[in-house]
Amino acid sequence: MTTTIAFIGLGNMGGGMAANLLKNGYAVRAFDLSASALDKAREAGAVPCASAEDAVAGADAVVTMLPAGKHVDAVYNGSVFAAAKPDTILLDCSTIDVETARRTIAVAEEKGFAMVDAPVSGGIAAANGGALTFMVGGTDAAFHRAKPILSAMGKAVIHAGAAGNGQAAKICNNMLLGATMIATCEAFAMAQKIGLDPQIFYDISSVSSGQSWSMTSYCPLPGVGPDSPADNGYEGGFAAALMLKDLKLAVEAAAAVNASVPMGSNAEALYQMLVNNGEGAKDFSSIIQLLRG
Ligand code: NAD
Repeated sequence: MTTTIAFIGLGNMGGGMAANLLKNGYAVRAFDLSASALDKAREAGAVPCASAEDAVAGADAVVTMLPAGKHVDAVYNGSVFAAAKPDTILLDCSTIDVETARRTIAVAEEKGFAMVDAPVSGGIAAANGGALTFMVGGTDAAFHRAKPILSAMGKAVIHAGAAGNGQAAKICNNMLLGATMIATCEAFAMAQKIGLDPQIFYDISSVSSGQSWSMTSYCPLPGVGPDSPADNGYEGGFAAALMLKDLKLAVEAAAAVNASVPMGSNAEALYQMLVNNGEGAKDFSSIIQLLRG
């Protein structure tokens, strides 16, 4: 029997993810506040619905891909919990704060639903290509039910532990990424000012102890290392505004557990400056331009 999935939030990421569910034989009932997002979902083969309740009614699973915690809170507490049939599996793939994720899953469990937080690594291209990595928080039983659905949208599905731990993995990873990107940019900018050719610095550092993913997979300098957004005027890739969003979530989560994150806090401040300069839509590696002055 075909499994029916209610998909709520069909924006840049959700649109491609829903299309991959359809390609993998799932039926999709779609809802988004945006008429154009809903139109695109219909063109991909989903059934457009008039409300979240309408999408969820009769579905076997619910997948949400929403901007932030307040939207997840509103959609689950305002619609999903009331409209879902008993035993529906609920998957929130949005990147949100750990606290809202844990609270929403606790309410779901109280109401008898299995639910996971399953944020993603990978951007719009990975969402379109079914190549996302999912980091999943929730019980073993909920993870095993969610896994086949997530596998239809991604290349890796990893159980990170209890509820909220998917979000914890996502923000810790992106805090590390933000800090290593800034450090890599600082080193390239300084090397050039001292008179060291950036290609020669890359050749040395990429096989030395300063090597990182930010350097060898996503080099922030055009013409150095593999093809990256730097080679495309810092267009495409991972927007600086989204990096700032994740860093804010990381610093907020750190404060809640008294974790000391001076590098993360500095990374947040620097990305805030980049976004304030009107560069939020550019790829996050464009922070090298800010550091060069
Ligand atoms: P987006 O703004 O393009 O899409 C979000 C969609 O949710 C929009 O279409 C909006 O209309 C819809 N929406 C908002 N409130 C709603 C509601 N109450 N009911 C129904 N629909 C509603 O955002 P996106 O880029 O697709 O990102 C979605 C999530 O994925 C975010 O949490 C983001 O941090 C995360 N993420 C994004 C990327 C990326 O590269 N874009 C990468 C990894 C993770």
